[in-house]
Amino acid sequence: MRHCLRTTFLSVLACALLVGARAATAVDHVVYERDGVRHRVQGRVEVEAQDGGLLVMDRAGKLWTITAEEKQQHTTDEIPFAAHTPEEIGRTLLEELPDGFQVHTTAHYVILYDTSRSYARWCGTLLERLYGTFNNFWKRKGFELVEPELPMVAVVFAERENFRRYMQADIGRSSSIVGYYNLINNRVAMYDLTGVQRDRVAGQRERSRAEINKILARPEAGMTVATIVHEATHQIAFNCGLQRRLADVPFWLSEGVAMYFETPNLASSGGWRGIGKINPSRLSRFRSYQSERGPDSLRELLRTDERLQNSEGVLEAYAESWALVHFLLKRYPDEFVEYMQMLSQKTPLVRSTPEERLEEFEQIFGNLDRLDREFVTQMRKLR
Ligand SMILES: [Zn+2]
Repeated sequence: MRHCLRTTFLSVLACALLVGARAATAVDHVVYERDGVRHRVQGRVEVEAQDGGLLVMDRAGKLWTITAEEKQQHTTDEIPFAAHTPEEIGRTLLEELPDGFQVHTTAHYVILYDTSRSYARWCGTLLERLYGTFNNFWKRKGFELVEPELPMVAVVFAERENFRRYMQADIGRSSSIVGYYNLINNRVAMYDLTGVQRDRVAGQRERSRAEINKILARPEAGMTVATIVHEATHQIAFNCGLQRRLADVPFWLSEGVAMYFETPNLASSGGWRGIGKINPSRLSRFRSYQSERGPDSLRELLRTDERLQNSEGVLEAYAESWALVHFLLKRYPDEFVEYMQMLSQKTPLVRSTPEERLEEFEQIFGNLDRLDREFVTQMRKLR
């Protein structure tokens, strides 16, 4: 079971006082000082605060938050801002990663890998399949997504230890998870789940795609593949206009949506036969929680992100988030899309109060107590 890493970033940045977005086409050059060191960043200002603080996206898609106190200089030139091309992303990242990495490019992804080419290609196929399915799903529901401005990046390590070392440097901690999405630099990172590299070192041939599929279609591999899909779903949601990075999107919603998509059916060549299918582990967790579920459970889930951030009761909160998204998409699909569209317009780094979150929800879905009763009844009936 994972606990999404983006929580860390949001809590760090939550107190920023940035408001008011502006559209910019030129390149912004910002010089700032942090901990006595001068830095320079070039990119596009996404949000400018009333006090002068900035949120900047660089050409590689990384976000930089600069407070008014840190900012020393901000100039704008006449050159239109252009995001990196796949080739530029690949080249820049190869410089950053340890030796031995190669680049595999697909229609929407740049995959950096130091494992076998066949595994990198397998990842590319999986991600593109998810991308296509995700876009079709929302299109059918009435939410037209946009093409990502930048290629999405996935870094795939052959060895778990190297992945952990990268994770430590990337986000300042490491854990036993198999993959994560960093919404600041917009990358997904993971390691080879089949252990292909070890076999290759031992002199064995590369596995074929069919062999990789066979290994990862085993029941015991299900949860690990689901984690990769879950994290990749977050990345697509933030790159295709469903959500904006660092905007106040409630956690129950972004986690619920990621869980809704997380179970691929690798045995099926058609792809995600499993979208929206009942997630047995989430449902059974929610069922056992129902006996102890307090009257304010839903209200608390909607008001703040705390239930998904606290280690106590986090599994129940995840299960309830999955259940709620499943329920709303089934019973109130149009309202759900309207709610998603409203959230997608939010300005990054502007926090809603718990009361505002509740109000926004009730304005679209109606009275919460009534909805809660229906939710509980429907979840009991679910087979
Ligand atoms: Zn997540």
